Amino acid sequence: MSKRLSGKIAVVTAAGQGIGAAIAEHFAAEGADVWATDLDATKLNNGAFKDGRALDVTDGAAIQAFAREVGEIDILANVAGFVHHGTVLECDDSDWDFSFDINVKSMHQMIRAFLSGMLARADALGTSSSIVNLSSGASSLKGAPNRYVYGATKAAVIGLTKAVAIDFIKKGIRCNAICPGTVHSPSWEQRVHELGEEVGGFEKAHELFVSRQPMGRVGTAAEVAALAVYLASDESAFTTGTAIPVDGGWTL
Ligand code: NAD
Repeated sequence: MSKRLSGKIAVVTAAGQGIGAAIAEHFAAEGADVWATDLDATKLNNGAFKDGRALDVTDGAAIQAFAREVGEIDILANVAGFVHHGTVLECDDSDWDFSFDINVKSMHQMIRAFLSGMLARADALGTSSSIVNLSSGASSLKGAPNRYVYGATKAAVIGLTKAVAIDFIKKGIRCNAICPGTVHSPSWEQRVHELGEEVGGFEKAHELFVSRQPMGRVGTAAEVAALAVYLASDESAFTTGTAIPVDGGWTL
């Protein structure tokens, strides 16, 4: 039986852990040939993928070289992102630039590098190629405490997503953003540990995170990957320019 992404070629950034790993593994399980990339290639579950590569999404030259090697693709999942903790007062210019470079400029550069091959592939196959960008509930959807520059970058991701979607709507490109709430991942665990140092332990910090979740729990990376598979597949052929929350009601 044909799988949901059979015959499709996908590139995923930050596939070494957390949401990126879950997306890359779900894409592969649904039949896609996946080029999985991460800053740290040793984290990649290479057995599952067509190839696993080191790719720093802040390195424009490396992105272009990688895109030339990979050629035409159907699916681009831009997952890499960084959470800066703090208000405007804790965000100096280098924090601002670093956050925008990894969270937004990386997507701009990945899309510019891969788009011509995605257009060609969509044209040749008569289907749509799909770009899936990781935004967040902390964005234009919701203000979250101590997520000043993070929220600004993730709002920019939604704007970038809609701009690409409208410019290529008749050319076989769909572009959508996923807006997770709090999701269990290695970097989230790290944030709980850091809060634990302020509030008296990991358990207490974990309770604080969970207490602000309307469903009484955080999400799983697999729950985000399920939406990514849908957006990458032809099942979502009529869906573009959206920013879809997967957040257990956090932005309600
Ligand atoms: P994570 O932070 O646990 O892992 C990030 C991965 O990115 C790591 O494997 C790391 O090696 C890689 N990475 C770091 N810098 C990189 C670079 N310059 N180039 C390429 N790879 C790099 O992952 P996560 O928490 O699952 O988050 C993934 C995405 O989802 C991010 O964009 C994040 O902002 C977004 N998001 C996460 C949550 C959450 O609660 N976890 C919520 C909303 C949105």
